[in-house]
Amino acid sequence: MIDLLLKRLDSVRKIGRDRWLARCCVHEDNCPSLSIRQASDGTILLHCFAGCGASDIVEAVGMKLSDLFPKPFDQHIKSKRYQPPYRQILRTVAHDAKVVSLFINRTDDDLSDEDLRIVNTALANIQRMGSRWS
Ligand SMILES: [Zn+2]
Repeated sequence: MIDLLLKRLDSVRKIGRDRWLARCCVHEDNCPSLSIRQASDGTILLHCFAGCGASDIVEAVGMKLSDLFPKPFDQHIKSKRYQPPYRQILRTVAHDAKVVSLFINRTDDDLSDEDLRIVNTALANIQRMGSRWS
């Protein structure tokens, strides 16, 4: 959202980490007097030194006040570790299925206690993922 906002503002200048100055789009602004800051949680803070309201500013660039606040979904996307829930489930099942498959072709008839523990854990994982799937 910050990218979209910055693209729609005039004379944007980066003045620091997650900080920008731009020409305010609400009042007649000759020297950039709109300060834009993105807080660590993703919230966009707008401050016009001439006193224009944030709602007027976002409206002028065709956005909504709610666009200044991060949506939970956006935050997930930012994080590299985020995966859609279904993919996490499938990945876990695929992993545990692979674990189980290691025991299929074992030539010794009896599984050791350690083997059983591994298989049981894998099967329990698959079962848990199966119930999350439905
Ligand atoms: Zn202003």
